[in-house]
Formats: sequence, structure tokens, C-alpha cells
Amino acid sequence: MSWRDLYCGELRSDHIGKRMTVAGWVDTRRDHGGLVFIDLRDHTGKLQLVVNPERAAEAKDAAHELRNEFVVQAEGEVVARAPDAVNPNLPTGEVEIQVDTLRILSRSTPLPFQLDEENVDETLRLRYRWLDMRRDKMQHNFRVQHTAIAAIRRRMDELGFVDVWTPSMTRGTPEGARDFLVPVRLQPGKFFALAQSPQLFKQLCMVGGIDRYYQIATCWRDEDLRADRQFEFRQLDLEMAFVERDDVLDVMEQAVVAAVEAVGDEAPKRPFERISFDEAMAKYGNDRPDRRFGMEIQDATAVTRNSEFGVFKNAPAVRYVVAPKAFSRAELGRLEDLAKEWGAKGLAYIVVDESGEVRSPIAKFLSEQELAAFSADPGSTLLFGAGDEAAVARVLGLLRLHLGRELDLIDTELNDFHWVLDFPLFAQDEETGQWTFLHHPFTAPMPGQETWDESNPEGVRGQHYDLIQNGWELGSGSIRIHDVELQKRVFRTMGLGEEEAQSKFGFLLEALAMGAPPHGGFAMGIERFVAQLADEPDIRQVIAFPKVSSGADPLTGAPTPMPNEVLRELGITAIAPENSSSR
Ligand code: ASP
Repeated sequence: MSWRDLYCGELRSDHIGKRMTVAGWVDTRRDHGGLVFIDLRDHTGKLQLVVNPERAAEAKDAAHELRNEFVVQAEGEVVARAPDAVNPNLPTGEVEIQVDTLRILSRSTPLPFQLDEENVDETLRLRYRWLDMRRDKMQHNFRVQHTAIAAIRRRMDELGFVDVWTPSMTRGTPEGARDFLVPVRLQPGKFFALAQSPQLFKQLCMVGGIDRYYQIATCWRDEDLRADRQFEFRQLDLEMAFVERDDVLDVMEQAVVAAVEAVGDEAPKRPFERISFDEAMAKYGNDRPDRRFGMEIQDATAVTRNSEFGVFKNAPAVRYVVAPKAFSRAELGRLEDLAKEWGAKGLAYIVVDESGEVRSPIAKFLSEQELAAFSADPGSTLLFGAGDEAAVARVLGLLRLHLGRELDLIDTELNDFHWVLDFPLFAQDEETGQWTFLHHPFTAPMPGQETWDESNPEGVRGQHYDLIQNGWELGSGSIRIHDVELQKRVFRTMGLGEEEAQSKFGFLLEALAMGAPPHGGFAMGIERFVAQLADEPDIRQVIAFPKVSSGADPLTGAPTPMPNEVLRELGITAIAPENSSSR
């Protein structure tokens, strides 16, 4: 006998009169004066079993032993439910199985949480992920993920991309995070880095004539964990030879649309909108704008040049947002505290209350011209940032996002995909003043900008592009440098001497010197994309076994200390951090 004739969710009135064997988990068991009703569940849904002691005395004994999450197999006859017992909310709700035999295949200890319980502590869910995974939402998430990845792979295949596996254990790849290191027993004291991305290998594939490479690649980055970050994650990673920026964007859009359609959502219109880095910074204060609500940042620098209010007059940049609420003094105090946490010195404001009256400690310093420029609808508040441009953008950008959430302004029905383009090629480290890369050091400058003052490359733009969905950076890409001299110039500008560049990236420089085609590519975070598709607020909900924010895996208890003999073989001495909690 096979374990089952059909899945639990498949039982229909067509099956009435047939004998069926079914198997699954006990979702609930109800005793009704002799009759026992069991909801049997698998990933497709639930069906109802009825155990009637007069029909099946043995099954009745087994039924009494059942507890939630026992695994059982039942055999019996499919019958129509009595009209008043039909459950219109269940696809199987018109029928039930009158059980003749019932076998307990596996028992369950008492559960740490019930599957239908809401707000279960996440660490507990992750500790018992195998239970958590049985819940409908998690089953849905993993299947959405599978469908999206399968659609992406199909589309990449149709577009002529070749799946090439690249090493996880490699030299450090500079993607802006710390490396995870892997000691090597055969070479004690030496380490591989886990690839932060396949960046250099995919470029070498282009030099190797692969033409179109892709991979659903696992990447490792030692960064603080947050809603959209885990130590390990996957990317749709691709690279193409003999292409311009628009060719890469077109392929990425096709992959995204294929996945969105495959999961049954409305596909975003192509081509996706494009905005420049400068516009994103000016209007939204960051380079991954959430455009599902307004409240865009407005500029007041020109109008405040001759202000009587010294803070405005002397600031290199004055900008503001208009929040659709007349805030109380206490609320403004809380907003100011936040602005200070984000680096502002204070938070100037103008409240226009419901009757149109203006409340503002700075109004008395402002000219008529300024006040006219700052007019707003009754029931709103203008919140100002004044200071250097980057700081003002940061503070107002964060304030805008905070208020978007607090005031419930975000239209969560919208699914906004767009590109951010024309990034600077270099950024200056605020502390050291050293120029460094913004994306990674392999991004090509804009055509016509191949030379620059190597001590001050400000203003050089890169052929770098980011894909944004609903305020999340889904991924980044660029047209790469394929000219070895240009690559050396970028290294020099980043303060990488000839020798260091050779020792770290000599293999790349050599490859670029042996017939490298023009090329470019992209990488999109799979879990971020899928979390958005599944309407989840963080990527842990689409990862089978994620880590929690401390960096630990609650399920296996990893990471764990290692015995000294193991470390010795690897040429490592562990120094226990003070106050370390050993497990
Ligand atoms: N390697 C880059 C990243 O992981 C993406 C790319 O430039 O293709 O963000």
C-alpha cells in the first residue's frame, strides 16, 4: 500500500464513494460524544477525518491517543458531509473520510508553541524551525521563493546565460564588508576568505569568453544583521560581455518581471523608471528612495541666503520636509531627539495648525519672502535641516522615512521598482579623508571621464546602477573597467600602491592585460526580492534557517568554541573575549 492516495488539500466531492488512504499531521482533534473529528494537514491544506467507534473500534483507540502534530495515516470511505457540517471556507469542506483504519506513524512531544499561535517569539520559532515551517505562511514563502527562482533560471537560460560555479573560498573580494575567514589545515596560519560576491570570478569568465554568465550565488559578508541583511545570502549574479548599461538593465528587468509574473503578481511596467543619484539624494535624502509616499525634501538654500535667522543664513544647505500633521510641542521634542541622534544640531520647525495659525520659534526671524516660500496647508508642519549637504540629506531622509511610517503615509499596495543611476565613482572616507570606491573598485567611470586628478577625484561619475524596490536596495551593478591602465589608476586613487595592487589583484590586472572584452553586470539579492514578493518585513522569513541579530543560529547553537587540538592543527590560537558567555 502506498503511503497516501492524494494530498490532504486535494479531497473533493468527486471522490465521494471511493476508498482513500491519506497521511499527514494532526492539526486538531475534537471529541464529540463518541465521534472523533480530526483535521489532517499537509502543505496543500486540511481534510476532515471522522472516527466512529461503531464503525472502527480499533481506530477509535488510536484516535484517543492523538495529540497535535502526530503523524498519521488513515484509510476509509469518502462521504458527503451533512449539509449543516459543510465548511465553505475549506476547499475540502464538503466531504470527509469515515475512517476504517488509523495508524500512528510518528508521535510528537508537547509543542513549544502552537502552530496557530500569533506573535511567537522569533528566537523560539527559529529554535524549532521545523515546526514553524509547517505553518501556512512559511510554506507559502518557501514556495514563492522556489517559483521566483525557477522563473529567473528559465529566463536566464532563454537569454543565453550560462550557469558557472565560482569558488566560495577565495581571496577577499572588496564589497565593502568584512570577510569571513576559513583556516586551512594544509597551510596552517593561512586563510581563505569566503566570497563576498563572485565579482572578480565573473569578470574573469568574461575574459574567458563565456559571454553571458549567471549564478544564484551564495555570498558571505561579516556585517551587523538587520531586516535585510544576514551573514550569508544569495544573489542573482550576472555578467555580460560587449554590453552597455542599458543592455544590463534590460536583462535585469526581464528577470524581475519573469519572477513577479510567475508568482501571480502584477508585473511592473517596463522600462522601470530611472532617477539620478543626485536627484535621489536631494529629494529623498538617500540612494534607495521609498517613493510609495510623497513628503519629498524641498530646498530652501536660495531663499534663506539673507535670512535673519543665522542658522539658516550660514548653513551651506537648508532643506525641509512638510509633514501632513500639526505636531504638538511634545511630538516635536521627540522628533528633535531623533534628528540629534542622526547627527543634527537641532530641528527648526514651523507648525501650521488646523486653523491656519503659524506656531514657530523661528518665525519672528523670517522675512515675508521666506514665510511666503514656507507656506503650507493647515494641519501641517515644516521640519528643517540646516548644515552641510550630506548631513542635511541624511537627517531629512531618515526623518521622512520615520514620519512616512509613523503617519501611515506609505501606500503598501504600490510596488515601486526603479533604477538609481549616475553615482559618483569615488567617495571620501569621513574620518581619514582617503578617497575610496563607492560601489567596488572595478566600476568604470562614465565615458569621457577616464582621467582625473588622482588626489581629488571629486565629481567623477561611475557607470554604476542600483535597483530599488519599495525603499530596499535589491541590487547593484556596473559597467566594469576592462582597461588595465584605467584599473591601476582607480587603485592608485584609492591609495593602493603598485605593490599592494599587484599582491591583492595581480591576477585581475594580468587578465585585463590579456584580451579583456568590455563587460558589465549586476547582482540582485534573492532573499530581499522574495521577502518583498511574499510581503514580509524581513528576509529571515524567507530563509529556512537564518541567524538572529546576535549572529547566532538558535537551532544548532552555532557558532561554538573549538577544541584546542583542532585549532592547533589549523595554526590558530583562540583568545577568549572578556566576559564571553561560553555555551
Ligand atoms: N558584486 C556586486 C555586488 O555584490 C554586484 C555587481 O557589481 O555585479 O554588489
